[in-house]
Amino acid sequence: MLTLFHSSLATVLLATALPDTVVREAYVMGTVLRIKVEAASDVEAFRSAEAVLAEVERLDGLLSTWDPASEMSRLNRATPGTPTAMNAEVAALLFEVEEWTRETGRAFDPAVGALVDAWDLRGAGRIPGPDELDAVSRATGSRGMAIDRRDTTSTRQDARAWIDTGAFGKGAALRSARRILAGSGASRAFLDLGGQALVWSRGVSAPTPRSVWVAHPDQRSTATIRLDLDGVSVATSGTSERFVDVGGRRLGHILDPRTGFPAPAWGSVTVVHADPMVADVLATALYVMGPVEGLAWAEKRGTAALFLLETAGDIEPSWTTSMEAWLGPATIPSTQWQ
Ligand code: ADP
Ligand code: MG
Repeated sequence: MLTLFHSSLATVLLATALPDTVVREAYVMGTVLRIKVEAASDVEAFRSAEAVLAEVERLDGLLSTWDPASEMSRLNRATPGTPTAMNAEVAALLFEVEEWTRETGRAFDPAVGALVDAWDLRGAGRIPGPDELDAVSRATGSRGMAIDRRDTTSTRQDARAWIDTGAFGKGAALRSARRILAGSGASRAFLDLGGQALVWSRGVSAPTPRSVWVAHPDQRSTATIRLDLDGVSVATSGTSERFVDVGGRRLGHILDPRTGFPAPAWGSVTVVHADPMVADVLATALYVMGPVEGLAWAEKRGTAALFLLETAGDIEPSWTTSMEAWLGPATIPSTQWQ
């Protein structure tokens, strides 16, 4: 039994009965990171958990758009029209993100900062007029922020343009954490970073998969469908938890970069993928596509995705073929979800 304390920001939950398991909780990336690590000894488990936390904090220091001192904030503040050299790690992530923007037909595009501001999604919310929306849309995507692969620079093309890392930062951090776990003394780990989880074990397969319940899109504490996971990450995107109400309209925090409007609230989508960053990216992308276009897109590409469509008083689940490998045998009948 080992109990750990991390600065004043963090609280530690309980340590389990197993002497080689460490459980700790810390506040990072604007959310809570829960770490459970198993190793051959307490000391190894402790070291691994600390290394994971330090890595997530490091990624936050690169990618945060809330911390003015981060690398991403520096790029987002650069003088418009002036190419700015990028940190190599951030550059590699942005190159990857650009590819997903193309692959998803711009359902996923983090260069939507100007739209986040126009709708005031980080404040009380507001409804921009059509002319404003039109002008602001021209400050998004590669027209707003140009990334140059040859000389690893980014150039803000417009004073309103900035990149919002909200839809891939947690996934990028979990991917880095996975690399840290692989190089540590840990044998198994479960990480939960603000709702995105990583189920990790050394070797091909853990003796028993870990069950993760997908929450009801509207009621966080209500479990709906069970996923039995191993060696993968699971990410969910939905708008019911984060929104602002303006003049009788509810604006979700996920934007459709193709229209400039917030994506409508329809439920949630959960993606399981070996790569945590891909899970994060695709959950947001499929949410923007919606349960019909999204399901077809994910099926065609072999993505494991589960859609929970909210209907009057109930939810209607649908999933792709590759999600079936993860679906637990015991799912609660839909009448109990209400
Ligand atoms: P959460 O952060 O709640 O887990 P997501 O991973 O879906 O949810 O990310 C949503 C965040 O991504 C938004 O808060 C915003 O910062 C940013 N964002 C909004 N719309 C898009 C989009 N279409 N593509 C990329 N990033 C987006
Ligand atoms: Mg995401």
